[in-house]
Amino acid sequence: MMVHFGLTGFPLTYSLSPQIHAAALKACGLPGEYCLFPVAPQDGDGLRALLERVRRGDLHGLNVTIPHKQTVLPLLDTLTLAARTIGAVNTIFIQNGRLTGENTDAPGFLADLQNLLGAGMGRRKGGESALVFGAGGSARAVVYALLQDGWKVTLAARRPQQAQRLARHYGDRNLPYEARIAIAEHQAASLAPLLPVLDLVVNATPLGMSPYADGSPWPAGLPFPPRAAVYDLVYHPCETRLVREARAAGLLAASGLGMLVEQAALAFEAWTGQSPPRAALLDAL
Ligand code: NAP
Repeated sequence: MMVHFGLTGFPLTYSLSPQIHAAALKACGLPGEYCLFPVAPQDGDGLRALLERVRRGDLHGLNVTIPHKQTVLPLLDTLTLAARTIGAVNTIFIQNGRLTGENTDAPGFLADLQNLLGAGMGRRKGGESALVFGAGGSARAVVYALLQDGWKVTLAARRPQQAQRLARHYGDRNLPYEARIAIAEHQAASLAPLLPVLDLVVNATPLGMSPYADGSPWPAGLPFPPRAAVYDLVYHPCETRLVREARAAGLLAASGLGMLVEQAALAFEAWTGQSPPRAALLDAL
């Protein structure tokens, strides 16, 4: 049987998902296709029509990206615990006859962080400290993943209200997380006192993304934390300025290509029950 998957969002011009999923289909020996379905931000009818195709079984799985990761929530029958807690969906499929929303960004991030740090990070070592730049959509998934894994998180966003909203979001969910989120200003003077205790720095802003590849969230003049690893969600260019400078300072560092592959592989697994070999997906990029 041919399987039909796809991605909706807007714009989708530079998406790497078709390449990743084509490689997954090939590696798993499944005949199928992965198509792009651009749906403009205000086009609720377009989004509903696409979800109907999943319901009817014309589409066997759908990925969702900006700007529909949250607007899609009320159109689904049910959400997994992660999607409900994060408040965003990137993967849709039919499970037990119900249109189900999942979030694979969070476990995808954690899986690739583990590739960088090795097993035994976070909770298992007991309360390690992470600094996350940004408080937008991907920061939500990253913070959820870190909290689940036992990390203490400090958020630094250029708009402190946005960081406060994100911290409250998890506090309001009756999860034992609130006490583990702090907020700092995104400035050298505010971050300097944290340096000795930081184990991880995560960039969840677009700073450093092509065509603005000379940008970096790390404040000018501030030394890197002596024992932190650095994870940059940006994957274009595949070595960002933040990653390059962190490596030059002797730190472990990775950019977001591995997370992109992991979240795609986990979506593919939810749709097909097969776990594609990550190396084949990375090779396709
Ligand atoms: P988003 O929802 O728009 O959030 C971006 C965050 O960065 C917001 O807090 C935003 O603040 C902040 N920001 C934007 N420009 C900034 C600047 N010049 N200085 C300081 N802060 C700034 O975007 P997102 O979905 O979280 O994505 C963020 C980045 O992660 C993108 O580059 C995306 O490609 C990447 N990403 C990668 C993966 C992966 O699999 N590797 C997955 C998801 C996202 P304001 O609200 O004030 O603008």
